[in-house]
This record gives sequence, structure tokens and C-alpha cells, in this order.
Amino acid sequence: MQKFSIAIHGGAGTLVKGLMTPEKEEAYKNALSEALELGYHILEQGGAALDAVEAAVRSLEDCPLFNAGRGAVFTAEGHHEMDASIMEGKHLKAGAVSLVTGIKNPISVARSVMEHTEHVFLAGEGAMQYAKSQGYKFLDASYFYDEFRYSQWQEIKGSDHFQLDHADKKDFKFGTVGAVACDQQGNVAAATSTGGMTNKKWGRVGDSPMIGAGNYANNKTCAVSCTGSGEYFIRGVVAYDVACLMEHKSMTLVDAAHEVIHQRVLSLGGDGGLIAVDNLGNVALPFNTEGMYRGYKLSTGKSEVLIYGADS
Ligand code: ASP
Repeated sequence: MQKFSIAIHGGAGTLVKGLMTPEKEEAYKNALSEALELGYHILEQGGAALDAVEAAVRSLEDCPLFNAGRGAVFTAEGHHEMDASIMEGKHLKAGAVSLVTGIKNPISVARSVMEHTEHVFLAGEGAMQYAKSQGYKFLDASYFYDEFRYSQWQEIKGSDHFQLDHADKKDFKFGTVGAVACDQQGNVAAATSTGGMTNKKWGRVGDSPMIGAGNYANNKTCAVSCTGSGEYFIRGVVAYDVACLMEHKSMTLVDAAHEVIHQRVLSLGGDGGLIAVDNLGNVALPFNTEGMYRGYKLSTGKSEVLIYGADS
């Protein structure tokens, strides 16, 4: 029987044991477990990888702990501009949105772009007009307000600095969320959603909504979702690079993912991590930071939710 599996992430960064209260750690683990179980349940019932990754990411978008959806960081103007993308590996269909405001689940709008338009990527006002035309409700800014995110922004507001999710560079983390899955038919899919960087301006867009950079899926090889310093992940075309190493150099998923995160991204100067699943249901979760909020569940029964430690 085809092995099926799902892996998720809630961002990578300076996640050092002891810096977080046990209560906060528990809250992160619970949120990750909930998203993981939601996605896994769909796969277990024979559902599609695409449905599983969308469900897992929606759950993480609804949780204020992560920098996506409800917990999205503040821009220089005090708004929230969210980016998301989704891709399925059978027909290589993809959808993405960037710079959207007021939308509860940007990942579902990205999926709608994929399924109901002839386009792949809609941005800004146009993306929001599209969402409205599809009946998406726009939520008041208060839904996205979070005390912690607000204080992060206050510390650098008015400066030219922008930060990846955390105001203190010595203790930074990337709170983007993502999911990858392989279903019982051997179809793979990837979904990624983010609020980007605190105090970002000029319509800055990171890797998360860019197909090939922060998100990619191809049944021939694997599905990948990234988190980290987006500019480096764009320049390294990171998600696609993992698939390329598998396709053209016959590398295993684990070796390809490891090479990209620990050699290629690092040599560019970037930090972060990724989650990946191949068409046989194997998973890889490498990161070159101290930690990454992450979890995976395999149909073999193996399952883990982790924050710190060595990558896998
Ligand atoms: N990659 C995201 C970005 O650059 C940030 C993150 O992973 O948290 O927008």
C-alpha cells in the first residue's frame, strides 16, 4: 500500500530551549498537533493531499501564535499584508495571492485562484477584488490585532528596519506556516502562508507566495514549503531546487533537502528551513537555525511535534 504522510511547520528561527515559558511551548505544540491531525485525518480517509495541506494551513492561520492569517505581523503602515500559495503535484496547478488584507484564510483564496481562474498569482487590490467577487468576507483589523505583534512593530516603527517576525535580531524567528502531504494515490501538494516581515514597506513580497521559491509540488519528485529569510529563498529558488536535485541528480528527498538548506541557502547567507515530502510518503524537515516549529505524521504510525533540536 502507498505510504501517506503529512508534515507541517510554523516557522524557524532562534528557538532555544528555556527562552519560552512551558505554557507557551505547550500552546505551540497543541496548535501544531491540531493542524497535523486535521490534515492527517483527511489523508487517512482517502482524501486528497491538496485538501489536507489546505486544512492544516487554515488551522495554523486561525491561530494567533503564528505569523499568518490571524497572527500576521504589522507592516510599516500598521496594517497586515498577507501572502499565500498552494500547489498540487499531479497537474502542476498552482495559485497564489500577495499583499492581501482583512482575509481570514489567504490560503483558500490562493486555492480559489488556482481552481477558478486562468491565472496563478493575483496581488494587492486586484487579489482582494477577486476574493470579494468569490464571496470572501473581509474581517475588521481588530481580528488581526495581537499585543505581542503590536509591540514588535512599535520597537522598529518609523525606522528603516524590517524584521522577520521578531524585533530582536538575537532572538528572531520566522513564523510563516506551511504544510506538505502525500496521499494514498501518491499525489503530493504544498501550501504556505505568511504575514511576511514586521515593518515591511514598498509592497515587499517574500518567497512564500512565489511558486518555486517558498512553495512547490510535483508528483515526479516532492512537495516543499519553506520558512526563513525570504529574499535568500527567492534567490536560491529553494523549493524548486530540492525537486531539481531529486529529478536531475537522483538524490533522495532527505539528501536533496539537506543539501539545499545546509549548503546552498547557507552559502548565500540565508537562514531558515523547509518541510518536504516525496511521492513515496517520506518526509524531511531540515533547518539551519536553532529550531523550527514542526511536526509530521506517517501512515506507518510514526509521528512527532518538535520545536528545538537537530533537524530530520
Ligand atoms: N519567508 C517569509 C518571508 O520572507 C518569512 C517567514 O518564513 O516567516 O516573507
